[in-house]
Amino acid sequence: MQKPERAMFITAHPDDAEYLVGGLVSQWSRAGVDVAYVLTTNGNKGTEDPEVSSDELAEIRACEQRRAAARLGVRDVRFLGYEDGVLEPSIDLRRDLTREIRGWRPDIVLTFDPETRFMTESYPNHPDHRATGDAAVDAVFPAARDRLTFPELIEEGFEPHKVSELWLFATHKPSHWVDVEPVWEQKLAALREHRSQIDPAGVENDLREWSGIWAEGSEFELAEAFRRITLD
Ligand SMILES: [Zn+2]
Repeated sequence: MQKPERAMFITAHPDDAEYLVGGLVSQWSRAGVDVAYVLTTNGNKGTEDPEVSSDELAEIRACEQRRAAARLGVRDVRFLGYEDGVLEPSIDLRRDLTREIRGWRPDIVLTFDPETRFMTESYPNHPDHRATGDAAVDAVFPAARDRLTFPELIEEGFEPHKVSELWLFATHKPSHWVDVEPVWEQKLAALREHRSQIDPAGVENDLREWSGIWAEGSEFELAEAFRRITLD
């Protein structure tokens, strides 16, 4: 399956999706895929500005995320509102993600590869990324599928749903790549909406560097990389 009817991208922070998967999001939305974002945290720690409170920052970043998603054609953006920086792959988080998956009923769920402890040799993976990937994979399998897991969700009206594929990003075991050069401008424009996070002068180089890293092993120069898990 290269193009699903419905897809759900589960990330940790406002801007994760635009950095890691914005090219694919743009391609799929334009091809008519119903795309939803789910963000586990509210991103309320991402500042060095002593004048900005956590609550203000969460509000700013939610607006930025909605604008970035709108540029890429995302139909729905959902915030679970967990605290940034201290996320754990708890049963509460797994239940909340199971509810989202059962509600949107995606063919493909895309999230962080929870096995990535270090992004590169100089960049530890953020703990919220690992926790999000862990909880999302566990929500897809088996919680979203199994009627007797989280029976309270059935009472809320969320029937079981079987996801066909998991695509894991920020991965060191890629098996599928998306060329981002044809959608470079859209991806960059969406990333630029995260004004509280990016350096406008340096963001394109930053994106180019990461896109080169993810392209390793592929035929492309600049890519997004995915580890595809096909669920029976
Ligand atoms: Zn992040």
